[in-house]
Amino acid sequence: MPRELLLQVTPETAANEVLLKDYLSKQIKVSPNEIQHITILKRSIDARQKAIKINLKVIIYLKGEAFQETKIELPIYKDVSKAQEVIVVGAGPAGLFAALQLIELGLKPIVLERGKDVRGRRRDLKAINREHIVNEDSNYCFGEGGAGTYSDGKLYTRSKKRGDVTRILELLVAFGASEDILVEAHPHIGTNKLPKIIEDIRNKIIEFGGQVLFETRVSDILVKNNEVEGIVTQNGDKILANKLILATGHSARDIFELLDKKKIFIEAKPFALGVRAEHSQELIDSIQYSCDYRGEHLPPAPYSIVKQVNGRGMYSFCMCPGGVIAPCATSPGEVVTNGWSPSKRDQSTANSGIVVELKLEDFKPFAKFGALAGMEFQKSIEQKAWYLAGQTQKAPAQRMIDFTQSKVSADIPKTSYVPGTTSVEMGQVFPGFLTQIMRQGFQEFGKSMRGYLTNEAILHAPESRTSSPVRIPRDPISYEHLQIKGLYPCGEGAGYAGGIISAAIDGEKCALMIAEALK
Ligand code: FAD
Repeated sequence: MPRELLLQVTPETAANEVLLKDYLSKQIKVSPNEIQHITILKRSIDARQKAIKINLKVIIYLKGEAFQETKIELPIYKDVSKAQEVIVVGAGPAGLFAALQLIELGLKPIVLERGKDVRGRRRDLKAINREHIVNEDSNYCFGEGGAGTYSDGKLYTRSKKRGDVTRILELLVAFGASEDILVEAHPHIGTNKLPKIIEDIRNKIIEFGGQVLFETRVSDILVKNNEVEGIVTQNGDKILANKLILATGHSARDIFELLDKKKIFIEAKPFALGVRAEHSQELIDSIQYSCDYRGEHLPPAPYSIVKQVNGRGMYSFCMCPGGVIAPCATSPGEVVTNGWSPSKRDQSTANSGIVVELKLEDFKPFAKFGALAGMEFQKSIEQKAWYLAGQTQKAPAQRMIDFTQSKVSADIPKTSYVPGTTSVEMGQVFPGFLTQIMRQGFQEFGKSMRGYLTNEAILHAPESRTSSPVRIPRDPISYEHLQIKGLYPCGEGAGYAGGIISAAIDGEKCALMIAEALK
């Protein structure tokens, strides 16, 4: 019988097949030649001790024991070109995985995406980075693959439903992601690999009779007697269908405004907001691994930190080891930051959103906007950042200790944020209560992570698109909008996901609910 084993080994042993075989042969008291194959089921890093260890869960197959390499395959899709049509608005993870699931269920998805395909999108990312030009339909948040395409591609989620998570990870592997994502405790894909996977998903949707239309912005939703009839695009074209998955993400402000104007029920939702901090990766490695040099077998270290300050959580968000800070504005006249990493995470800098949880009461100054109060609060900070940093895509920046001491930094060294930075006292960007929490919070962080609070770390403002400022309420069982029949609010923009994996899971769920309703 193949043996399953939990073990702790050095990073070098974990990275070297021969050393690992040797180690295991001693553990189970057989000669290394007796071992036919080792399958790694789980891998995680234990950095709690000075001597860092790798936790592994493995299955050992000895010679003579039945072992077969398993290849992860795509589900069996059938042609749906003549099947009942379902409109999917948005080609982010929620929209794309909804479309795949619809095909699996024998329904035809018509995916409408305001942005360009992954290749066309690259030119617009260059324009925002180099020329400070923001294309309102094609940017880091909008375009094929959604907000996750040019990201770190972290694939972990707090979702408790492991079965759902595994299904999405396996689909990603079937579409070309490394099998490592099935094994790692904290898997990620990387900006350089995600676009090809997204492209392959789109091609599969088209191959089996679905439609994917780029540069097609939905500007109206047709509703009659509280039931969806279809949509209108920015060119005035109508597409009719009575089932619509609305997966437009957390940055589609025009969609929130449209729903509000049409009196389709939406509500303000708390989110989190703060700054993006950048340290050298070397410093983060030395803090996390308690060493001067991490060596060749350990990955660039991530970190995750949370503190309670004045009764609110302040925490790291979307940390990108070996990554770069990206300009993620979706309209001219605003500055927004976020981060990405290549698959090797081999840049010299480490960045993370450091955000404070907001409460609905924080949006009071914007109460006249009703359900859009949180969105307007968010917008006002992004616009202030743009104004204070010089009315380009430059971001307001401050050295970390200077920030805690309310001191304008005399200079800002070059950071990974390509559009550049302007030295600004961050207290000017944020409301007083937020600035105070962050000032105190960074000092607390410095106590938990020695070396973290340093003037070599640079804060960029703002990190503001952490989750949707609006919820589009739906029935918890049928997933249909509470008021409009046939409308399925989906993914992060509707307030039902936070991240690539949970958005993909929610996309699949909405498709399943539609199939159920059509039975
Ligand atoms: P989105 O991905 O936002 O997709 C919505 C799509 O709808 C967009 O493509 C948009 O163009 C389209 N759309 C909007 N309005 C319209 C309209 N009117 N008509 C037609 N189309 C429309 N998450 C992780 O889990 N791991 C990470 O490492 C990670 N890194 C990130 C890095 C960056 C730079 C950013 C911006 C986000 C990152 N995220 C990450 C968050 C993650 O990308 C989102 O949680 C996820 O993409 C949400 O999926 P979604 O499908 O719900 O929405």
